[in-house]
Amino acid sequence: MKNLINGIHHVTAIAGNAQRNYDFYTKVLGLRLVKKTVNFDDPGSYHFYFGDHEGTPGTILTFFPWENMRRGMRGAGQITETSFSVPADSFDYWMERFEKTNTIYNKPSQRLGNDYLVFVDPDGLKLELVADSSDTRAPYTGTDIPADKAIRGFYGVTLTVNDEKGTAKLLTDVFGFEATKSNANRYRFEAQKGAFADKIDLVVLPNEQRGSVAAGSVHHVAFRLPDFESQLQMREVIADAGYNITGQIDRQYFKSLYFREDAGALFEIATDIPGFATDESIDSLGHGLMLPPQYESRRSDIEKVLPSLIL
Ligand code: ZN
Repeated sequence: MKNLINGIHHVTAIAGNAQRNYDFYTKVLGLRLVKKTVNFDDPGSYHFYFGDHEGTPGTILTFFPWENMRRGMRGAGQITETSFSVPADSFDYWMERFEKTNTIYNKPSQRLGNDYLVFVDPDGLKLELVADSSDTRAPYTGTDIPADKAIRGFYGVTLTVNDEKGTAKLLTDVFGFEATKSNANRYRFEAQKGAFADKIDLVVLPNEQRGSVAAGSVHHVAFRLPDFESQLQMREVIADAGYNITGQIDRQYFKSLYFREDAGALFEIATDIPGFATDESIDSLGHGLMLPPQYESRRSDIEKVLPSLIL
């Protein structure tokens, strides 16, 4: 079963203060809050989903904001960089925007044929803009950022590993990705059928310490499949390859499987369906606090403990 995984569905990271997290991703990066809900495993805290207008898979960065959470540490077995795709001539615009908003960034550099610009969010999460003129996805335009500068969605992610062999084999033999480019200790893998948001770079640092997941670090990366049936088929393939994978878990806007890959990172397989317009219309995505059915009866208690937000 080759080439079933179509790229990245979403990336989930941990933040500290909820308001600061919301402000950075909507007002500095110009993403849309497409869902405001709670952490299904901890309903006293938020789960934010940022993305394009509809929350299209491949554009969705999600956060668990936990006030007073300690900072994590980047290291092996972690997604250490999350990259967004932007138009080729947009870096001057972004650097000026980063200056104005006191966002820490580095001067642009080049890697595997693309210019990229590294920056960090207020919790220290390491992000990149990658100039990709081949990206034809429409950006979200509900902000002050001009459409010809705005983020298109993910470009890819970088996973730091002590040894690349196991993860590389998973990506090629199980996910159906192709090894496309490499330079020094960086190895790139891409889904074969050219979806966007489909680049996984493995960076090999044999002596790097294990990362610790807390504020400012990625909790997991989710890969996409179209529907529940292809997800169940993939579950079997992953289990047969020797991974300890969960059953299908209902995340309200998609169903999910989770397993830990060879280097220690948490991988999720998520479905494109049903998407975010199941409990709000596309135009009003992110406006209400959306609770899954199991928590609806506790809504007033939950609203009391969640930090207030100015949207
Ligand atoms: Zn997830």
